[in-house]
Amino acid sequence: FTILALETSCDETAAAVVRGGRTVISNIVASQMATHERYGGVVPEIASRQHILSLAPVVRAALAALPNGWNDVHAVAATHGPGLSGALLTGLNAAKAMAWQRGLPFVAVNHLEAHLYAGWLGSEPLPPFPLVALLVSGGHTLLALIHDHGQYELLGQTRDDAAGEAFDKVARILGLGYPGGPAIQAAAAQATPGGVLPRAWLRDSYDFSFSGLKTAVLHRVQDRLAQAARLSGRKGSNETPQLDAPFVAQMAYAFQESVVDVLVTKTVDAARRYKAQAILLAGGVAANRRLREELKRRAGVPVHLPALDLCTDNAAMVAAAAFYRFHAGVQHGWDVDVTANLPLGAS
Ligand code: ATP
Ligand code: MG
Ligand code: FE
Repeated sequence: FTILALETSCDETAAAVVRGGRTVISNIVASQMATHERYGGVVPEIASRQHILSLAPVVRAALAALPNGWNDVHAVAATHGPGLSGALLTGLNAAKAMAWQRGLPFVAVNHLEAHLYAGWLGSEPLPPFPLVALLVSGGHTLLALIHDHGQYELLGQTRDDAAGEAFDKVARILGLGYPGGPAIQAAAAQATPGGVLPRAWLRDSYDFSFSGLKTAVLHRVQDRLAQAARLSGRKGSNETPQLDAPFVAQMAYAFQESVVDVLVTKTVDAARRYKAQAILLAGGVAANRRLREELKRRAGVPVHLPALDLCTDNAAMVAAAAFYRFHAGVQHGWDVDVTANLPLGAS
């Protein structure tokens, strides 16, 4: 059973063909990163326009991997939320139009559920239930107990910034550019270990908070710049003070350690408490090397880690989620609409 899926919830225009919910036949991602980089973040209106330009070539490239093209496709899927409304509309409408024209069933997919289903793609054994999943992305941070396909129990979520958002904001504070995750990871790798930043444990809760940590970095940076200004003033220089590379590396390192420690501790604790068979890590931040290593080291149960390119936004994960939804009897009519704030478990 082969599904063609589209994903346009944010700044990636993606199309993929997946067989049996597990085998990736093609996975095409046109990133708009370079377009949005100069604004320091995603500009919704520009994202929608860019999706419209990229959709046809991306779909054509995804279908080119099938010997008989459309004749080999059994269903069409697309993300309908959560995400930017205008961006979601482009992919959802394109997918509905193609499904209608081809007379194929259509499945609308929840983007958060899709991130989780990246864990079902590839050759690893299938994730077993009950499963504790940590979803850490640009807009979300949540810990969930998955009882079975489609049965989610939310254990905790962020009370302020998402983990990926924290990486992006701290990278900006440190002058490391956008997107922040890979930049922080690279800078941290240059640091001499040491230096501790606060961790928000929030007592026994499985909720998270990253805004205090971000503010702590900001204060260290301001102190460092003031110190540099005093020094250069004493030397009679009037250059604007800059952050030095060793300090930036040290901050990136301490920030990453703090985030990873809290995420791993709460996830492992939840897995123990709910007697999970395994832990699943998903979302863009799941690409973080330190997080992957530390979770595997401390888990105590098998850890399912999607391949790096399936952690950040892509359409293969959308096809995987659609496969399980479709086989649970789910199909959507042409009236299905986008929902910008669709929560996990809703569709
Ligand atoms: P959402 O899925 O919540 O709607 P999104 O789709 O924008 O948000 P993703 O594509 O899942 O988010 O992930 C992007 C985020 O992942 C960015 O914040 C980015 O900084 C972060 N990220 C990517 N690679 C890494 C990494 N190696 N380390 C840490 N963070 C990373
Ligand atoms: Mg993105
Ligand atoms: Fe995402």
